[in-house]
Amino acid sequence: MLEVRGLDVRYGRTHAVRSVDLDLAEGEIVTVLGANGAGKTSLLRALQGAVRAADGSIRFAGEDLTHASPADRVRRGMMLVPEGRQIFVSMTVHENLMMGAYLRSDGDWMRDLKEVYDRFPNLAERRDMKASVLSGGEQQMLAIGRALVSRPRLIMLDEPSLGLSPLFVNNLFELIRELNRGGISILLVEQNTAMALETASRGYVLELGRVVLADTAEALAGDPALAAAYLGGH
Ligand code: ATP
Repeated sequence: MLEVRGLDVRYGRTHAVRSVDLDLAEGEIVTVLGANGAGKTSLLRALQGAVRAADGSIRFAGEDLTHASPADRVRRGMMLVPEGRQIFVSMTVHENLMMGAYLRSDGDWMRDLKEVYDRFPNLAERRDMKASVLSGGEQQMLAIGRALVSRPRLIMLDEPSLGLSPLFVNNLFELIRELNRGGISILLVEQNTAMALETASRGYVLELGRVVLADTAEALAGDPALAAAYLGGH
C-alpha cells in the first residue's frame, strides 16, 4: 500500500533522511525505530508532505504522491498524528474533532465523528470544554480521534506514547491494535521499542537517516545489537 524508494530529506546542509526504502502492506502495523535525531520525524513529515522529498519516491495505494500536497495525501487516506499531538488547546474538544473533517468532501463525516465519541466516552463528556483541560492521555485520544474523522486508510503516529503514564501507554497500544483490526494500516514511530515491537509485524531501524536494519518485529526484538542500543531503557 505504501512504497517508499530512495527517499532523501535535506534541511540545508543537514541530510536528515538518506535513501530510505520502506514498504507497508495494507493491514500491516510497521514500526520505525531509532535514537533521537535519527530522522524518524523527518521521514514522517516527508510522507505527510510537510517537507519536500529531495530525492526518491512515495507511492500510496497505487499512486505516485511524491509531489502531492499534504491535503491531497489526506484525501487519499494518509493521516499523520504528529509528535506532541498538536491539538488546538484554545478550541473545544468538538472543534478539534471537526478539524479532522475539514478535507472531507463527502457528507458522511458526521457518522465518523459519532463513532469517535462512541469510542472515546471521555471526549464525548468533555465535548464543549477547551482541549487545554484534557489530560495528556486524553489529548492523545483527541489527536487520534481527529485523525479518525478524516477516515484514514493509513495512520502515521509520531511517538504517541511520549509523556504518557504507563497505564495509558498500555491503553494506547491496545487502541492501535484495535484500529488495525478495524482495517486501518499503521506506521508507528516510537521510542518505546519493546512495546512497538510487540505491536508491529515488521520494523525498520534508522541511524543517521539510513535504514540499518529491516526485519520482522520478532527478529528485531531478538537482535542483540538492537537490544543493546534501544531495549535497555524500556
Ligand atoms: P526525535 O526523536 O528527536 O524527533 P528524529 O529521529 O525524529 O528525532 P528528526 O527530528 O527527523 O529525527 O531529525 C533528523 C535530523 O534532522 C537531526 O539532525 C535534526 O537536527 C535535523 N532536523 C530536523 N528538523 C530540522 C529542521 N526543521 N531544520 C534543520 N534541521 C532539522
